[in-house]
Formats: sequence, C-alpha cells, structure tokens
Amino acid sequence: MKISVSLLSSYLYCSRKLFLEKVLLLEEPPKESLVLGSIRHETYDKINKTEEGIVTSITKLMPLGNIETIYRQKYLQILRKNIADNKKRLEDVSLNMLDAYKKSFPSIAEESMTRASNIFSFIEKNKVFGKELWEKLTPKILSEIRIESEELRLKGIIDQIHVYNDEYVPFELKTGRTPSDGVWPSHRIQIAAYSLLLQEHFKKPIKEGFVVYLDTKQKRHIAINPYMKEEVKQIVDEVIVLLESRELPDFCNNENKCRKCGLKQTCYNEGEVNNLLNVRVSG
Ligand code: SF4
Repeated sequence: MKISVSLLSSYLYCSRKLFLEKVLLLEEPPKESLVLGSIRHETYDKINKTEEGIVTSITKLMPLGNIETIYRQKYLQILRKNIADNKKRLEDVSLNMLDAYKKSFPSIAEESMTRASNIFSFIEKNKVFGKELWEKLTPKILSEIRIESEELRLKGIIDQIHVYNDEYVPFELKTGRTPSDGVWPSHRIQIAAYSLLLQEHFKKPIKEGFVVYLDTKQKRHIAINPYMKEEVKQIVDEVIVLLESRELPDFCNNENKCRKCGLKQTCYNEGEVNNLLNVRVSG
C-alpha cells in the first residue's frame, strides 16, 4: 500500500479530520482559500513550463526593466487565463473574477520580478543568451513532479524541484497562515517525505528543502537530517493503521483549527458520526 504524502500532513493537522474524509468519506465544502490556493498552484505550474521559452527568447543584453516586463506580461496572462478557467469554482465560493485577480496578483507579480532579476544577474555574470543561457542556467525549476516508492510506501507530487547541477532541492508552495518562525510541523514532514523520495529516485543525498508561504512571500528553510527518515516511517505506519481502523480519533483540541474546519458540524454531531460509522465501517 502506498499513501499520498499529503495524507501525512493531513494526519498531523487533525487525525480525526483525516478519518472523517478518508474512512467515513465526508467531503469538505469548497472554501475561498482552497480555490484561490489551487488557482495559484496551477499558475505556478504553467509559469514553470513557460520558463524555457522565456529564457531562450532573451537573445541579447537588455535592461532589467525589459526582462521584468517580459516576465510580468507572461505571468499575468497565465493568471488571467487560470482565473477565467476557474470561473465556476470561484462562483461556488461567491468570489468574482476581478476580486480573485486582485487577491492573486501580488504574489504572481512578485514572482515575475524575482525571476527576471535572477536571469538579469545570471546574464551579467555569464554573458550568455538564448539556448546557451537556458542550458547553463541554474537553478532550473521543475514543477509538479510525480514520484513514488514501494519501499517508503509513499507517493506524491512535488510542487517544485530546484535543480543545481546535480543537487535537488524540493519546494512546497503553501497558502494560508505563515508561522512566526520556521514552518508548520505538517509542512516539515511533507518536505522530509519528498526529500526521501527524491533521494531514493536520484540516488543523491538531499540536504535541504523550502516551504514558500505565498500569502506573506516568506521562504522558510528546512535542513534535512538522517533522523527524519524514521520520523516519516513512523507517521506512515500510523496513517496506514488509521485508514484501516474502525475507531474515530479524538478531537484535535485546537479551537482555531475547528473554527475553520468545513467538517465541524458533522464532527461535533455524535449521532451523525455514529450513523456514518455504522454505515461505512461496521456495515
Ligand atoms: S472540527 Fe476540529 S476536531 Fe473536528 S475534524 Fe475539524 S479540525 Fe478536526
């Protein structure tokens, strides 16, 4: 049995919620933050796929401002298209396309500036253009990479891998609250799990990973250490036990999480939960 890496972070967030979703098959109603988060993910994915085209189109020395314009125009065009493609999902959470654009614009515009400035510095230093610029450019960013392992009993899709020659660095892009320091425990385990998968796949040690909190534009570092493998294996065991179990885990005892939880009504309704347990588990 292989489980998705995202289940490890869901388990650490609230094991009861994971049970409600995966064992009792409840679905959380759509939320504005989730829809905007998924639009941003799709946008970043498409942005990464256009990178080679943008870089190879730079065939001569040009001012930073011109490179910024090329990036910004392309990125905002992708964002607008993604918002239009998600019109129905946005309507379901009562958000119009203009507001969705206003909320998503800052982080995408910022990303375009950062990438333009990286390319400008690389050109200044290496004096290469077009195809040669793309071949020599580091880091190269791979996105939405599927990876799995029988041995680790894990599978997942990594948001981004930054490739520096033969070094691989996993990146996770997250919307929602940013911790005051470091990363949330569930995000740390996700990066640890992806590092193990990458390590096995590329047969190279993975030394670090990053979580990017898109709403606050914070990039947080995670150093990978050998103990993380045991930690990940332990959580994989626990998640598999939970998925095969018939026992509803206890409440997470975190008011903040429960207040925002789309399953709260059912979760706190003992009668409804018992009925579901009878139908889906005992029955
Ligand atoms: S309401 Fe709270 S305890 Fe229940 S599933 Fe949601 S987060 Fe977990």
